[in-house]
Amino acid sequence: MTTEIRPKRLFIKTYGCQMNVYDSDRMADALAPSGYEPTATMDDADLVVLNTCHIREHAAEKVFSELGRLAEMRREGRSFTIAVAGCVAQAEGEEIARRSKAVDLVFGPQSYHRLPDLVERAGRGKRVIETEFPAEDKFEHLPAARPEVTRARGLTAFLTVQEGCDKFCSFCVVPYTRGAEQSRPLEQVLAEARTLVAAGVREITLLGQNVNAWHGLDVRGREIGLGELCARLAELEGLARIRYTTSHPADMTDELIAAHRDNPLLMPYLHLPVQSGSDTILAAMNRRHRRADYLRLIDRIKAARPDMALSGDFIVGFPGETDADFEATLSIVREVGYASAYTFKYSPRPGTPAAVAETQVPEAVKAERLARLNALVTAQMRGFAQSCVGRTLDVLLEKPGRMAGQLGGRSPYLQAVHLEAPAELTGTVQKVLITTAGNNSIAGKIVTHAERKAASVIESQPIPA
Ligand code: SAM
Ligand code: SF4
Repeated sequence: MTTEIRPKRLFIKTYGCQMNVYDSDRMADALAPSGYEPTATMDDADLVVLNTCHIREHAAEKVFSELGRLAEMRREGRSFTIAVAGCVAQAEGEEIARRSKAVDLVFGPQSYHRLPDLVERAGRGKRVIETEFPAEDKFEHLPAARPEVTRARGLTAFLTVQEGCDKFCSFCVVPYTRGAEQSRPLEQVLAEARTLVAAGVREITLLGQNVNAWHGLDVRGREIGLGELCARLAELEGLARIRYTTSHPADMTDELIAAHRDNPLLMPYLHLPVQSGSDTILAAMNRRHRRADYLRLIDRIKAARPDMALSGDFIVGFPGETDADFEATLSIVREVGYASAYTFKYSPRPGTPAAVAETQVPEAVKAERLARLNALVTAQMRGFAQSCVGRTLDVLLEKPGRMAGQLGGRSPYLQAVHLEAPAELTGTVQKVLITTAGNNSIAGKIVTHAERKAASVIESQPIPA
């Protein structure tokens, strides 16, 4: 008699940034050889992993409320393993174990390669807490996704090239939760990129908490930076686009700026957080750049790539922020003009220097400043989307659109684009004339070669007197 072994079901809930999205996929890859298959709901999962974010208090608290819900499912008779991963696990491992008796396994971002063993140990009824920074390189031990799994994840992929941070901005937990800055070796990154492209990936976004600090050695032992890594990636046949995020202004080297001029695969869209427009606050944040340095940098980037659009992060209500400091943030937003922006109220994080400053800004003031900043950046984002109407943009067609006969894709500026197109164009980059701009997406129509030619003839004709 043969017994059919039911595959074990894995549900991963991902909080926070793209690096966590990437990590969740790698966790699924690490558990696949042990028979775990992803499921879309936690209701039938044998293993539930909460991949957490510690960057703001709100993000961390959401984890504890989800753990309450999972504990309730256990009390109702469901049997499954509960694991907490990510930066909350790293920073508050013991606290999680104390607050939630239901948790079986807690592990930090550096232990994902040990997952099969950790899950097996936790399954034996013994609670496991693993928040060390192991000496071995986890990436060396993480298996690659099967090509069909990569394909199912889509035509665009994240690839972590750098982890951790040595900058120690006074508000930020990353140097404590993700550890010291580390770059993955060039060959390791290229090997992963080759696997992705061979499986059909057309766009790769390189990830790192401080991605433009990436550095490595080429075959001759020469030190290279992110710009050269992008040049090597551009040689991969089949790859159409490269992006990277998140960058620190102090690490935008001449080499990387030149890459934006020379490498046609690098998209003209850069996430470059400034956090504040006030020099006093930037110094208190330990940001290592002043307002003028940032503005000069933007000028240099735009000189290299005139169609570059910018995205940013801003914190309002940092300790000691006065009305004048906040006005300086509004004015730098006006001066730069952002295509998109992420805005946050300062959230004191345990263990960071700013959390113990005596000059904390009252919650109501933070809320009022956030509302004013949001009004400004929303107007800029809408203005940017409107400015695309009438332009012809390259769009990577990624998947079926909202309606029959439509495809959905992305512009160079990461905007969602909807258009009528046959399914066989999926995976191609098309010239699309943008006709309308909504709040969250833009729409247009594919311009044929003949139409483009006609348009350029009309444009080059002399204007009649
Ligand atoms: N490395 C990037 C840089 O230097 O700009 C930022 C990466 S950080 C993980 C993502 C964003 O979260 C930051 O840019 C910042 O705006 C926001 N952030 C980090 N700590 C925060 C805090 N304590 N309160 C509010 N926002 C915070
Ligand atoms: Fe955090 Fe970015 Fe500052 Fe590093 S550079 S400490 S990741 S905000």
